[in-house]
Amino acid sequence: MGKKKTKKKTAKKATKKKVAKKKTAKKATKKKVAKKKTAKKVTKKKVAKKKTAKKVTKKKVAKKKTAKKATKKKVAKKKDNLTKNLEDSLLELLRVSSTIIPDDVQKVVLKALKAEAENTSAKYAMDIIDANIKLAKMKSQPICQDTGTIIFKVYHPPGFYKQKFQKSCEKAVLKATKMGYLRQNSVHSLTGKNDCMNVGGGHPQMHFIEHNKKTIEVKCMLKGGGCENVGAQYALPYPPLNAGRDLDGVRKVILDAVQKAQGKGCGPGTLGICIGGDRGSGHVHAKDQLLRKMDDNNPIKELDDLEKDIVATANKLGIGPMGFGGKTTLLSCKIGHLNRLPASFYVSISYMCWAYRRQGISLKSNNTINKWLY
Ligand code: SF4
Repeated sequence: MGKKKTKKKTAKKATKKKVAKKKTAKKATKKKVAKKKTAKKVTKKKVAKKKTAKKVTKKKVAKKKTAKKATKKKVAKKKDNLTKNLEDSLLELLRVSSTIIPDDVQKVVLKALKAEAENTSAKYAMDIIDANIKLAKMKSQPICQDTGTIIFKVYHPPGFYKQKFQKSCEKAVLKATKMGYLRQNSVHSLTGKNDCMNVGGGHPQMHFIEHNKKTIEVKCMLKGGGCENVGAQYALPYPPLNAGRDLDGVRKVILDAVQKAQGKGCGPGTLGICIGGDRGSGHVHAKDQLLRKMDDNNPIKELDDLEKDIVATANKLGIGPMGFGGKTTLLSCKIGHLNRLPASFYVSISYMCWAYRRQGISLKSNNTINKWLY
């Protein structure tokens, strides 16, 4: 009996232990489940946080993109404005160059007009020239039917983008031609075709010169064809005139060119001269002298004396305006020089007619006109 009881008790205890173990196992399982739930919640929170962060990042990226687009638009607008301003400024430069004789030239023309005697052909010619100048200015119409070669001299700071600038010059020429400020007279040399645009094959003529200033300056010259035809180039010594390789020889050939130009080239004229250089650079430098102001003085005394002597002597030749006789054959003479080779000594002569059309502008940083140079 005693043994049976003890066995039963032991079995009960074992059962209790099992039950207790089961309870503990259940509790452990519950805890695990709770832990898992908590872990899930944490994971969910983390995912949600990540999603929110992603959304914020997306928003930031979108904002940045919008800002970038806005900046790009602003930059493009600024560039558009700069281009438009440049084209407008160049158009105005062309209009003024073509229709208004610069003040320094006008002064000399008026002086010449007063110098001619009343009731002479010279006076008549000068009166017509004067009336033409006034009418062109008043009506904003070309001073002469011959537009001439359009020459741009662009003085720019280092790091300047030339191609774009040239395009703007060409656009301005096209517009000025359409608006009637420039006549349509640029012709294809092989076909003779005039495309009526004044643009093509080296026209307009572009010269870019780097200078030390931060600003851009543009000079424009309209060089007539009739006066270009009487330009000349002599190689010294020149035996027909007994002209040697010195300033006296230079003087002789210049006066010879003036004689040969009489009745042609629409005088009274102005001479741009280059002593030296080669055949090409000599002519370019001679034309550059025409960019000087009429009333300036040559810084080289011998050349200054020669300039004045040439004008005084030419005006005693009796050729006069348009070759009609009179006191005004030349309005001015400007002489420059370039180095030459020992083997050659050129004197290049550029003749500018009375329709002395040249102007210049300096540009502001936004490409509008800051000031006029003549
Ligand atoms: S030479 Fe001068 S004035 Fe004579 S037609 Fe030509 S541009 Fe006119």
